[in-house]
Amino acid sequence: MPSLALDTLRRVFGHAEFRGPQAEIVEHVACGGDALVLMPTGGGKSLCYQLPALLRPGCAIVVSPLIALMQDQVDALRQLGVAAACLNSALDAETASDVERQLREGRLDLLYVAPERLLTPRFLSLIERSDIALFAIDEAHCVSQWGHDFRPEYRQLTVLHERWPDIPRIALTATADPPTQREIAERLQLEDARHFAGSFDRPNLRYTVVQKDNARRQLLDFLRGHTNEAGIVYALSRRKVDETAEFLREHGIHALPYHAGMPADLRAANQHRFLREDGIVMVATIAFGMGIDKPDVRFVAHIDLPKSIEGYTQETGRAGRDGEAADAWMTYGLGDVVQLRQMIAQGDSDESRKRVEQRKLDALVGYCESMACRRQVLLGNFGEDYPEPCGNCDNCLTPPESWDASLAAQKALSCVYRSGQRFGAGHLIDILRGSDGERIRQFGHDTLSTYGIGTELDARTWRGVFRQLVAGGWLAVDVEGHGSLRLTPKSAEILKEKQPVMLRREAPRKASRTASASS
Ligand code: ADP
Ligand code: ZN
Repeated sequence: MPSLALDTLRRVFGHAEFRGPQAEIVEHVACGGDALVLMPTGGGKSLCYQLPALLRPGCAIVVSPLIALMQDQVDALRQLGVAAACLNSALDAETASDVERQLREGRLDLLYVAPERLLTPRFLSLIERSDIALFAIDEAHCVSQWGHDFRPEYRQLTVLHERWPDIPRIALTATADPPTQREIAERLQLEDARHFAGSFDRPNLRYTVVQKDNARRQLLDFLRGHTNEAGIVYALSRRKVDETAEFLREHGIHALPYHAGMPADLRAANQHRFLREDGIVMVATIAFGMGIDKPDVRFVAHIDLPKSIEGYTQETGRAGRDGEAADAWMTYGLGDVVQLRQMIAQGDSDESRKRVEQRKLDALVGYCESMACRRQVLLGNFGEDYPEPCGNCDNCLTPPESWDASLAAQKALSCVYRSGQRFGAGHLIDILRGSDGERIRQFGHDTLSTYGIGTELDARTWRGVFRQLVAGGWLAVDVEGHGSLRLTPKSAEILKEKQPVMLRREAPRKASRTASASS
């Protein structure tokens, strides 16, 4: 069997060797075992069901949530000479019934189907009458209600196991987060399946986080190191996507927008161009990306903070699938933390879910603020131990300096207190730096004892101080007010107990190092 698998890998797929745990998974599933496969994006999950599909008699049914991408996968398989097809609502009735006939007559190796289609009585009875090699459940994290890709129909996929207990099932996901993995196993009744996990490390990705000064200009600087290369720029809102794409085009960059608010045909056209043409920068919300298989994406840039480390690794995982050097770059500032805290607080999730969202955001902020190797922080978050600093992240390449910010922190916190805990960082910095703006005079803040006591630091350094005080829990963002900052129980450590505070010194303004520029 193993030699047959290897032979098929070479003959049909044109790969010389299996990668990571692929060989074991293929053998296990080909022999009829159930499997839960956890591998990062680009790790080579598809092969784990495509190859057993060819080794076992009958047709493999592949459940996939994204109609738009099924056709791409089917086309790619057909080019390899594999009898693949898909069934979804985009097909006309005639084509659909033709595909169904091929399935019944045993002429298909793989059939991709959307979950809602699969669950129809018509399709289930079709399965009954056909010879089925295996069930593959792609993007299995869609079963988790905590993820942003939740698909209620995924919950009902247990019907496959209940009705056809002898047909092997393989569920696949790039979700690295252990609680979500447990939820997948439970929801899909895969507790007894063998679990296969590849390392979630992506050694060719270079992680960089820069303090946000002027996101657009910083993005342009960053993109200069990636001329004519394909990449994705993630932003939080549709409006920001449109504006950023426009801005980049004005600066001669071949950028296209993608978000759920665009007409479907334009969205599809932009995606198509990104996949087929060279050097396109896709500016997108997280609506873009799941299942995108473009090997030569050279960078993923975040101009807004993602919602969690999980989301961040999934999004950055779309870069460098070909194994060549690629950048995962992010610009991040206090405004991002304020905005996301407010979105969580004002969202319609229930309290327990809000707490989970908050914790996930905190973990991500911890990543951004960390002075340690970024890879160690990311993998540590997934319970993976990475013993040595990686040498391929900003913190490894240019170790950050820390400085004794005890006095600055005391000044910042007293300024928050004296001005009544009702103002955001911008205004507080104006007070500390003794600016004589109109708002300062309007509130009489030029008479505060903290007015002008912080002229020794520039505004940028102060922004870094406030941001790090929030990240460390010494200040809280008032989510009802407009990002105003207030003291926390922990503030006493600095104000009363005068504990020393070491903060990260912000890198000098001009530091847009990129993987391709320096390697
Ligand atoms: P995933 O679904 O895990 O994100 P894919 O299955 O799309 O990843 O595979 C990512 C890329 O790696 C694809 O271009 C695929 O052709 C390639 N690949 C997969 N397995 C191998 C292998 N054993 N050897 C070489 N390339 C591989
Ligand atoms: Zn590192």
